[in-house]
Amino acid sequence: MSSVLDTYARKPISFKEGKGSYIFTEEGDKYLDFVQGIATNILGHCHEHLVKTIQEQSKKLWHVSNAFIIPEQERLAKRLTNNTFADFVCFQNSGTEATEASIKIARKYFHKIGKPEKNRIITFKGAFHGRTLAALFAANNPKHTEGFGPKVDGFDQVPFADHEAVKKTINKNTAAIMIETIMGEGGIKVVPDSCLKGLRDLCDEHDLLLILDEVQSAYRTGSFFAFEKSGVMPDIVPVAKGIGGGFPLGACLVTKKAATGMIHGTHGSTFGGNPLAMAIGNAVLDIIFEKDFFKNVKKKGEYFGNGLNKIKNKFPKIISEVRGIGLMKGIKVLVDNTEFIKKLMDHKMLTVKAEENVIRLFPPLIVEDNELDEAINKIQMVCKEMN
Ligand code: PLP
Repeated sequence: MSSVLDTYARKPISFKEGKGSYIFTEEGDKYLDFVQGIATNILGHCHEHLVKTIQEQSKKLWHVSNAFIIPEQERLAKRLTNNTFADFVCFQNSGTEATEASIKIARKYFHKIGKPEKNRIITFKGAFHGRTLAALFAANNPKHTEGFGPKVDGFDQVPFADHEAVKKTINKNTAAIMIETIMGEGGIKVVPDSCLKGLRDLCDEHDLLLILDEVQSAYRTGSFFAFEKSGVMPDIVPVAKGIGGGFPLGACLVTKKAATGMIHGTHGSTFGGNPLAMAIGNAVLDIIFEKDFFKNVKKKGEYFGNGLNKIKNKFPKIISEVRGIGLMKGIKVLVDNTEFIKKLMDHKMLTVKAEENVIRLFPPLIVEDNELDEAINKIQMVCKEMN
């Protein structure tokens, strides 16, 4: 019997090593890995630059307290703020800590400016913001919250894509609206640009902060963030997963205005932003900043999307929709998604499910066209088998 607390429905398989888009079992079986730690190993397994960085940094300095200046942290924050909407970054270890920090920053802002009654956040049905108590009750998915009461108060949930409901829910206590730019666990549901603009307008009209959760989508859609193409400027953006390329790293990006309340002592973390994590975060950026990197992600995303759409058109009884942007893709299937994923595993390809009977596909951003072709072939084979 395993001594690990049994909170995951694990597949009976384990892996020994990985390289790029592939991962290998103890027995030497090779799988095309389009889970990549659920959108986390953004540069694939064991990217040379990340391996070299971790080796070099591990000989220099692993961890120092945030009681001291950490130059690698300063550097990563500067590189992020120089290239995004944000003025400040606060480093965490995970996505849920980043969303939790976002909630705290929003509440503290209104407290600081003398409107402490503005402390409630509007969230959306089907969202996922992590597993800490506040993040759980922000998303309010009964599958995740049951038995974890008392409920953490301060969230008002509305149906996804219901602009009128958002409008009706805003009151004198509302501080912010929080939404994933692309709902990941919810089924790769992209919030249309017009909706993002609508939410920004409501925030401006009612003096609210806009929190866009990009924990799953950051770096993955052909730009730093998925919201960028909409032209909308958020106030707070939690990120994690891909920004550490597989090393535990989260961050909360924030504007100068929204950061108003965050003075000494208001937030902290023992590990958040330590030299080892920061070296890796910077190493991920070194690659992301290479010429035409995002352009290539977009190109590969289109290539993959076209391939998936061709299969959808060929097998309309199996695939009803191809979702997502860049290399954050989902296929909504009309057969059981768990069964489909199992069959893909028989063909040595790993994928991960989401709500709405969706299968998520997270190729690493360094994926080659022939690997995308391989994925398309395997998906097509399963469609044939299930047709
Ligand atoms: N927010 C979003 C949009 C996520 O997809 C996730 C994880 O899947 C989280 C927050 C929580 O991240 P973590 O599991 O790193 O705590």
